[in-house]
Parts: sequence; C-alpha cells; structure tokens
Amino acid sequence: MNQVNEGSCLCGAVRFRTKGPLREVVACHCSQCRKQTGLYYAATNVGLDNFELDGEERVTWYRASDFARRGFCGTCGSALFWQADDADHVSIMAGAFDGEPGLKMAYHIFCADKGDFYEINDGLPQYGKGSPNLAVAPDD
Ligand SMILES: [Zn+2]
Ligand SMILES: [Zn+2]
Repeated sequence: MNQVNEGSCLCGAVRFRTKGPLREVVACHCSQCRKQTGLYYAATNVGLDNFELDGEERVTWYRASDFARRGFCGTCGSALFWQADDADHVSIMAGAFDGEPGLKMAYHIFCADKGDFYEINDGLPQYGKGSPNLAVAPDD
C-alpha cells in the first residue's frame, strides 16, 4: 500500500510521516497516560521501517517506566510517541495526525486506572489492564 500519513506537534517543530496501514487506535487510561495528557492516551502504531521523523532533536524522551519511553515536543509539549525498549514499532498519538487519516478507535485499556470525572460509553471493549491481544501495525 502507498498510504502515506503525516502529522506534527502543535508548534510544528516535530513532524512525522508514516507509510502503509496504521493500527487501530487504542485508548490507554493508565495513570501515566492520564498524567501526561490530562485525559487518556489514544494512539495508533506503526513499524519503524514505515516511520520518518523530522525535528528529532526537538523531541524530549521521558521514561515513565523501566520498559518504555514517551516522546513529546520540547517546545510546545505535545505528547507524540510511546515506544517500548528495543521495539521495532512506535505508538503515535492519533490526534497528532494532520487532516483525516481514517483511523478508528478499537478498544480501551487500563480502564481500572481511569479518571473518575468521565465515563467510557462508546460501546467499545474495555479492559481493566492491558489487552490480551494488543497488536502492532499490520504488515503491508
Ligand atoms: Zn511542538
Ligand atoms: Zn497508558
């Protein structure tokens, strides 16, 4: 597939480009994602072979856990990426894409940790912790 999608942080210092199909969007309501975003983390995922990053030096990486890092724009603070150590794929915040990339929300994880000021009522599956079948981007 020749599908190409682009996106950026709010200020535009960090831009990225993906090739090929993107994974469905997974919403993570864990306390780390809640703190970082103020709500929850909604991310797609793509293989590093299909991912290009401009302004990488403007990305600040923060390790909230000992197995992954979170990338955000050091200028405007937009949360952008989540990457497990040694992974060959990266999660990208769905809202960072330009235009309408055609993404669909799939399910919610770590619902047990969600904030008490909102309800999840979109009818999609909800998992208290991680999903048993958390997938990465399909091969193109
Ligand atoms: Zn920025
Ligand atoms: Zn999370």
